[in-house]
Amino acid sequence: MAVLIIFCTFACKLSHIVFLKESNKIFCMKHYDYLIVGSGLFGATFAYFATKAGKKCLVIDKRPQLGGNVYCENIEGINVHKYGAHIFHTNNKKVWDFVNSLVPFNRYTNSPIANYKGELYNLPFNMNTFRQMWGVTTPQEAKARIEEQKAEAVAALCGREPQNLEEQALCLVGKDIFTKLIKEYTEKQWGRDCKDLPAFIIRRLPVRFVYDNNYFNDSYQGIPIGGYNVLTEALLDDADCLTDTDFFESYRDTWRDVADTLVYTGRLDEYFGFSLGRLDWRTVSFKTRVEHVSNYQGNAVVNYTSHNEPYTRIIEHKHFEMFGDKVDACSSTVISEEYSTEYKHGMEPYYPVNDEKNNSLADRYRSLTEAEPNVIFGGRLAEYKYYDMAPVIEKVMQMWSK
Ligand SMILES: Cc1cc2nc3c(=O)[nH]c(=O)nc-3n(C[C@H](O)[C@H](O)[C@H](O)COP(=O)(O)OP(=O)(O)OC[C@H]3O[C@@H](n4cnc5c(N)ncnc54)[C@H](O)[C@@H]3O)c2cc1C
Repeated sequence: MAVLIIFCTFACKLSHIVFLKESNKIFCMKHYDYLIVGSGLFGATFAYFATKAGKKCLVIDKRPQLGGNVYCENIEGINVHKYGAHIFHTNNKKVWDFVNSLVPFNRYTNSPIANYKGELYNLPFNMNTFRQMWGVTTPQEAKARIEEQKAEAVAALCGREPQNLEEQALCLVGKDIFTKLIKEYTEKQWGRDCKDLPAFIIRRLPVRFVYDNNYFNDSYQGIPIGGYNVLTEALLDDADCLTDTDFFESYRDTWRDVADTLVYTGRLDEYFGFSLGRLDWRTVSFKTRVEHVSNYQGNAVVNYTSHNEPYTRIIEHKHFEMFGDKVDACSSTVISEEYSTEYKHGMEPYYPVNDEKNNSLADRYRSLTEAEPNVIFGGRLAEYKYYDMAPVIEKVMQMWSK
């Protein structure tokens, strides 16, 4: 049999393990407790707790690097969030203490700005926004404005329920906020007119009658000092890792020879060969470039809320980690324009589409997982569920605390 011995040439973090490759199947000479497919936060956190419990783990990822969607690429000394801006936030002290025990987090506070045809507004909707919108300075004046505009929208419905997103949003915040900060931004996100979108997409639109631009209500938020790759490295410190290794092209048929248990964080439908059909996803795409100025937009996140620009927002990555004088100490900057993009086969599957059709298809796949002994399905792709970072970590912590 034609066997090729590979001494870690394609390995990312392996010291002395020998792999055998025959017609695209990889055989491993060491036996593991866990083969973990996917090095995102679910897989990496699982590997952390497993190795701390004395278990041997092999982590594989089909991408050329580890870390899943939190991976950062260093460009001009700046950590660029390659798979979309990631801001860690949680109310869970245990999760916060855990991640900070691996790498301290900085004081980044998410406070996005909206740009509507050159007019700038603070987000989320708060007293700063209302002052910029109407010149009002007290909560009473702001509330009166909003209530007046909400009443107009409700009256226009003549007693019927809102039939679409536009009517719903007008009833929740009135015409000025809807027109300048919601309508065209939402249309860019969904690629459809707000009148053609269902009302249920927007159930609530929180407004704050305080001068508070902090986007999250959580007790803790920040970015790992040195970037997310430091967190990934700490989580995977004691695991063996292979990059550029797709489960379906390597261990699909042989994983039981490699490990006792499979932890699978890839796509749910792909595991079952798409046998019941494909689950839909939403995606975003990015155009990233270096700008030779030290400070391009003065904030990490600026949303573009009109159709004047085709992108939904611009991320300036340095502001996640550089504050005060450090911003100008670095003479260039990296920005990413973010575009809402219709998902097509082969693109990054970012957000599950939680409509009736996809939810019921996902349920049918989930019932198939029950017949897979010694396989743990976890994370956003395998559970077909949107997770923020902290809940993913919390879920793995709970699994190991049991
Ligand atoms: C655009 C975007 C922005 C986000 N922003 C935030 C934010 O600001 N704050 C926040 O808390 N959360 C945010 N999230 C959510 C966060 O990214 C997820 O909670 C987290 O990444 C989930 O980790 P995971 O391990 O489940 O998935 P992932 O990070 O996607 O990891 C899955 C890994 O599995 C690998 N894989 C898949 N199939 C295979 C295969 N067949 N073989 C080998 N490897 C495979 C993939 O390459 C990937 O590396 C954001 C998500 C997106 C999409």
